[in-house]
Amino acid sequence: MHNWPPWPSGFHENCGAHHQSSNPLESQLSRQTSFGVTVRVNGDSRAIVLRVLDCALASFEILAGLIDVPLPLNKIDFILVPEYDGGMENWGHITISQSLATTGDDAHLIYLIAHEIAHHWIGNRATIDSWNYICLQEDIADWLAIKAVKALLTDEIRLQRFQLAQYVEI
Ligand SMILES: [Zn+2]
Repeated sequence: MHNWPPWPSGFHENCGAHHQSSNPLESQLSRQTSFGVTVRVNGDSRAIVLRVLDCALASFEILAGLIDVPLPLNKIDFILVPEYDGGMENWGHITISQSLATTGDDAHLIYLIAHEIAHHWIGNRATIDSWNYICLQEDIADWLAIKAVKALLTDEIRLQRFQLAQYVEI
């Protein structure tokens, strides 16, 4: 359970492709995947929103090539949340750390985004009925996310650094 900050004003009115809010502190951008899913990203900074949108679109395309069933949604929103660690999948929207989106390296950001997208894809097919088996659900999402990172990150040194960071703080 998370304590949500109040929605920024104008949040719900923003819609449509490549829309930017009139409030300079808020931005919402959206694009469609090649298979017709609308991906929207909401945050304070247009540059960071665009970074997340690029990573999300690329991750969607990689995952679509790995999973042989259609995504059971026609849109997913990403919401950048300040003072928040990591990410969380919620049906139809994903919250991610604004700080990771702003200062995190590409590998970690792609990994987090792809992991949360993967949960949407496999959700009803892999959701467990006991916390005892949560590792199964998380590990499938991780396996898919790592494949997205490897596909999208062409720099071998950065990829090795990301893999090492799974085990030690660097
Ligand atoms: Zn997860």
